[in-house]
Amino acid sequence: LDVIQDMMQDKMASMLEEDLCCPICQDIFKDPVLLSCSHSFCKECLKNWWREKPERECPICKRKSSRD
Ligand SMILES: [Zn+2]
Ligand SMILES: [Zn+2]
Repeated sequence: LDVIQDMMQDKMASMLEEDLCCPICQDIFKDPVLLSCSHSFCKECLKNWWREKPERECPICKRKSSRD
């Protein structure tokens, strides 16, 4: 049982870490921004990403952001 608990804790810890990681730079969020689709990115990453794009869409799900 102890082993299973340890595994669960490890899994939860890694999930939490993933949650705190920006999908663009794969690093811990710096100044995170939450889009209307509920994906988040560093403010700088999103700015750089959108600089190349005609539309302000989410880099993951491609939903257009309602933010300007
Ligand atoms: Zn980032
Ligand atoms: Zn999204």
